Amino acid sequence: MSVPLSTKIALPNGESYEQPLGLFINNENVKPVSQGEKLISYNPSTGEPITEVHCATVDDVNIAVDAAYDAMKSWKHVEPTVRVNLLIKLASLVDEHKDTLSAIEALDSGKPFESNASADVQSVADYLRYCAGWADKLHGTQIPLNSKCMAITKRVPLVVGCIIPWNYPLSMASWKFCPALAAGCTIVMKSSEITPLSLLYFANLVKEAGFPPGVFNVLSGYGKDVGSALSKHHKLDKIAFTGSTATGQRVMADAANSNLKSISLECGGKSPLLVFDDADLIEAAKWASFGVMYNTGQNCTANSRILVDEKVHDKFVDIFINQLKEDWKMGDVFNKDTSLGPVVSQQQYDRVQNYIKIGVEEGATIIQPLKDQTPNAGFFISPTVFTNVKEDMRIVKEEIFGPVVTISKFTDEKDGVAKANDTIYGLAAMLFSTNFERANRVADLLEAGSVYINSSNNEDVRVPFGGMKMSGIGRELGQEAFNLYTVVKSVYHNYGSRL
Ligand code: NAD
Repeated sequence: MSVPLSTKIALPNGESYEQPLGLFINNENVKPVSQGEKLISYNPSTGEPITEVHCATVDDVNIAVDAAYDAMKSWKHVEPTVRVNLLIKLASLVDEHKDTLSAIEALDSGKPFESNASADVQSVADYLRYCAGWADKLHGTQIPLNSKCMAITKRVPLVVGCIIPWNYPLSMASWKFCPALAAGCTIVMKSSEITPLSLLYFANLVKEAGFPPGVFNVLSGYGKDVGSALSKHHKLDKIAFTGSTATGQRVMADAANSNLKSISLECGGKSPLLVFDDADLIEAAKWASFGVMYNTGQNCTANSRILVDEKVHDKFVDIFINQLKEDWKMGDVFNKDTSLGPVVSQQQYDRVQNYIKIGVEEGATIIQPLKDQTPNAGFFISPTVFTNVKEDMRIVKEEIFGPVVTISKFTDEKDGVAKANDTIYGLAAMLFSTNFERANRVADLLEAGSVYINSSNNEDVRVPFGGMKMSGIGRELGQEAFNLYTVVKSVYHNYGSRL
């Protein structure tokens, strides 16, 4: 049976809504030019299918990129104040549709509605407003050269391809489309094949806000063909990617081997959290619990490697385990008391469970303080703590991307920093100390794009975000984000005769 262009979806909270299922190109919900692969979205809380969406093919990539490319011809002449107003209108529409968008995220990716999905959607509205504030302030510079000559620089917007992961389907997309739209770019976004629903619903709000056809396009599809066709496309000026390091490397190679388009990569992490002997252990445990288990550990900046000064290790472990029991409650993600949902898919469930098995086989001590309350249905995984770990174990070295954390010891500051930096990743690092001097000294030594002193994962859209080492290239958020979505053009102005 052929897939319709929209369908009514009944939500577990008794509400229902109309879910668009087509590709979103030129402000229209359309079917792919030919039958692509099947793309079914599943409810991680039950493992049951929610709906099938239309799946793009390489031909659809070409059509969507042409739409973005053609739209740029007139969009680049639009006054920045028009973009300001459109972004503010879009933010208001996100507010208006917040409950539906949050419910879609809860249904499609297993995020607890109250504590997690709503926060994601709120962050999209907030970031739209933040970027709206910048849209008419993206100035170039003026460079005096001599008495008869000066140069000016302008920021030129780009035709951009965006590739999105499943862990924050709408909010990770917003880290790209908010600054890109503010800077005057046109966009083709590829959602994750695991969580396609919220971006399709959101795309129709972009149209309702008044953005012209072709400025914002969305394709549901797989990485191997749709994602790769975007990375290789000759009409795109840039690819903004978020996902695993292995895929990021492929995207970078495809961008280089096609048209040398610019890239930004937000990739994986294995972020260390250091607890010094002078730390407030209760505060450290609270932040560490939040920072590793929020979003069921499916966080690129999850503090999944806790390193504790051996003098306070045992005490910290006790406090941390109690904190996990206090903080996390699994169950129906539409119940307002639920704070921990399932992982996103069967594949992710198998992957995380396999790492838990590896940890046991490697000889680490496993603690699962919430095992009794873990639901049997769906892809729920009990929060898992490994102690007595060695630094070369796979559970310490590799990104697990689930509710799993290792805790190990260090002997002194030097040992702690060396262990923290002993990773291919460099996305985030956290440290707890009440000694101001030590905290700042260690922060300088940690090899990470973001360092959190006495907190974890309290990102703010005003602060640049991105990785060092194999965690990525480029900085999203803050003022820095606009450098990703514009290229600088220099224009020389000669106003005298040649000397
Ligand atoms: P993934 O790499 O499997 O997929 C990410 C996206 O890339 C998806 O849309 C996928 O379809 C697409 N893709 C797959 N193969 C491709 C190819 N050959 N060419 C182009 N695109 C392709 O990652 P995921 O499993 O969706 O997300 C989890 C990963 O994302 C984790 O490693 C996590 O750390 C990382 N992540 C990083 C950040 C950050 O800001 N640094 C944020 C969120 C997630």
